[in-house]
Formats: sequence, structure tokens, C-alpha cells
Amino acid sequence: MQQGILTDLLRQNGYSLTQPRLVIFNVLRLHQPLTMKELSNKCKRIDRATVYRTAELFEQLGIANRLTIGWKYKLELSEAFSEHHHHLHCSGCGKTFDVPANPSLEAMIKDISSQRGFLARVHQLEIDGLCENCQKSD
Ligand SMILES: [Zn+2]
Ligand SMILES: [Zn+2]
Repeated sequence: MQQGILTDLLRQNGYSLTQPRLVIFNVLRLHQPLTMKELSNKCKRIDRATVYRTAELFEQLGIANRLTIGWKYKLELSEAFSEHHHHLHCSGCGKTFDVPANPSLEAMIKDISSQRGFLARVHQLEIDGLCENCQKSD
């Protein structure tokens, strides 16, 4: 089903589903958000340039989102493929954890926007800190 959405998004924009695109999509689908380095390490049989080009294309077409974490970023599949959620990023071990969207937070974001006559469409929320494990080893 998800592959169907991918094929549609590519096709609507004049692209086809090539083998490398499918492999990169599946790697993103099966993991927590990945840095470009992690992504290309997990796609060993695809050359680095193709991984980067594909990631760029996925971002342009709304297939993947970039999460800004400090001065770096990670990629994950967009909300076309997953439920809206937020992220906790551990600056100790570098892991990124998904947290489900909180209804009152979502309502608050809409409120804040509409107070300025703004129609909120998308937002991202990344919280930086230390996970339980990294707090212990501190
Ligand atoms: Zn940690
Ligand atoms: Zn949200």
C-alpha cells in the first residue's frame, strides 16, 4: 500500500519507481530517522551520489522530510506514509525517538496560528535532550 503511494507521488511528477528509489524508500520505512551518512551506509549497493540525489528528490516531492537537529539533519518518510508525530533527539547517543502527536498541543498550534489569521498547514517539533540511558551514564 505504501509502495503504491510512493509510485503515485513519483509518477505525478514524471518520475518512475527505479530499483534504487525503492531500496532507499524501504530503508527509510524500516528505520527511525537517519542522517545521510547512516542512510548511505544502509544502502551499501547504491553509490553515494545516487543516495544523495534520491534523498533530494524525495524531499522535493514530499516523500521524505528533513528533521533539523542542531546543525545536522535526519531524513524520515513524510506524513503521506506515517501518522503525524514529533521527535525527541538525544544529543548523548544521537538516537531520535518518535513521540505521538498530543491533541492539546496540536490544538494549541492551530490556536497560535489563527490568532494571527494564519492557516496552519504543517509543523515539525524536535526536542533536543538526553535519553534515560544517557542520563544514567552522565
Ligand atoms: Zn541517548
Ligand atoms: Zn504536531
